Order: sequence, then C-alpha cells, then structure tokens
Amino acid sequence: MRYEGAVYRPPSEAGSLIIQLTIGCARNKCTFCAMFKDKQFRVRKLDEVVADLIDARQYYRDYKVRRIFLADGDALIVKTDDLLYILDKIHELYPECERISAYGAPADVNMKTDEELAKLKAAGLDMIYMGAESGDDIVLRDVKKGVTSEEIATAGLKLKKAGMIVSITLISGLGGKERLKEHTINSAKLISIIKPEYVGFLTLMVEPGTELYNDYQAGKFQLLGPVEVMQELKIFIENVDSEGTVFRANHASNYVPLKGTFNKDNKKMLEQIEKAEKAGVFRPEIYRGI
Ligand code: SF4
Repeated sequence: MRYEGAVYRPPSEAGSLIIQLTIGCARNKCTFCAMFKDKQFRVRKLDEVVADLIDARQYYRDYKVRRIFLADGDALIVKTDDLLYILDKIHELYPECERISAYGAPADVNMKTDEELAKLKAAGLDMIYMGAESGDDIVLRDVKKGVTSEEIATAGLKLKKAGMIVSITLISGLGGKERLKEHTINSAKLISIIKPEYVGFLTLMVEPGTELYNDYQAGKFQLLGPVEVMQELKIFIENVDSEGTVFRANHASNYVPLKGTFNKDNKKMLEQIEKAEKAGVFRPEIYRGI
C-alpha cells in the first residue's frame, strides 16, 4: 500500500479501507481548506490503484473488508470508464465489500450524465460525500468554492436520481458575522431542495496556510463565537424541511454536539440548543479540532 501525503476521509469512514484514486484536489482553491494544499493534483495510473487493491487484499486476507473509500479530494473527476474498471476490480478482489464511497465535488457530479451516474451506482459506487459548505451564493463566491447554490442542488439531485446515498457537509460560521442569517437560511433551503440522506454541520476553524486564516489575522474576517454558532444552528433547524435526513453536528469542531433526524427531532434539537445557551456550556476551544 502506498499512501501519498496526508489522507483524509469522512468521520463515518473510520473503519473503511482507503484507496487513493486521485492525489489532492483538482480545484484546491477554497479559502478555508488546508487539506490538499501540499499536493499537486493528479489522477493516479489505474495499474497503481489496482496494485494497491491487491496489496491491501493480501494484508487483509483474513479480514472482511466491508467498506472502501476512494480518496483523495474528488474521485468523480476520474473518467467514468476508468471508475467502472476500478469498481469492477474492487468487487473481484473484495466480494464481501458492501459499500464503496467517495468525495464528489458538485462540478464533477454535474459533468457526469444521469446515465453515467446510474452506471456507477449499478457498479457499486453507493455513497457520495459532497461538501456544499453553504447554500448562500455570496458566501460560496467569497470562499471560492467555484459553484453556485443552484449547481450544488443540481448535483445533489442528480446523485439522488442515480440512487446514491448523499451526505452533505455545511460549515457553520463560514459567512462570518456579516452573512450569518443569509448563510444559514440559504443553507437550509439548499438541504430542503436536495433532501439528502445525511447532513453534517461542522463549525469553522481557521487553519494556518489558508487564505481565510490570513484574512482572519488581518481583521478582514470575523469568526463566530459559540452564542452566534448556536443562533445559526437554530435558524438552520427552524428553516430546514428534509424529512428523514440524518443530521449530525457532533464533530470535534462543534461547540455543542447535536444529532437527530429531520423533521421529527427538530424540536428536540432546538430544545438542546436552548438548554446549552441557558447554561452557557460549550465545548472549550482547546478541545475543538478539525
Ligand atoms: S473544500 Fe473540497 S473542493 Fe475545496 S479545496 Fe478543499 S478538497 Fe478541494
């Protein structure tokens, strides 16, 4: 197995075999993201990926590999035929594998036709993690996400049409104090349109080496405090309509761990937020992490 540089995966893929199909992120421009700043993007040669799959099979010969995550930043940029080839190899080498997943940038999803996505799903690509970050076009523009809210919605709906499980990440605080309300309401609208299976709400932490960190240091961007983050979460939950979506805001970056299912648990989660606000008990900064 050859891993190149730091390898990232969603928290729910902690038990998965991770295979790098690409190195880095093809865009690498988002002002808040430090994940792949040290990597020059490239799609790996297919024979290298297959060699990794064979090596890992030998290593895990007595172990059932039930989940495989295709890293790095955006596996869906890979040509559909090449992806289908790798998915076939996975099933050949890991017949016990129950779920294959990957990050999918909205622009890459939109580059694929409905037929291509359906073929990928039929070949075993079951789940896509899509970083929306915000549903507000001004926030998306400011953080250089490279897509509009409408394009993210289109991508999410295309994935759902193909039958894939969709998990979307939003970032609390990404609009700063200036666009708190718009960021939150428009993010709730975006989720209400897509109605994904999962939504994760992280809380922004600025990382050295990013453009946003420099803006923060220069006083051009203001981070939200825990009270404002609670305000965002409340507005988001009050405005979202996405029956059955599993919501998680229990990442290490969050001030108050929250989880529930929309819409049935909305009231309960709002009560939890109010309780934390009244008690003034939030995760201390030293225990927060990305
Ligand atoms: S947030 Fe996603 S698309 Fe943006 S730079 Fe990071 S990995 Fe790339």
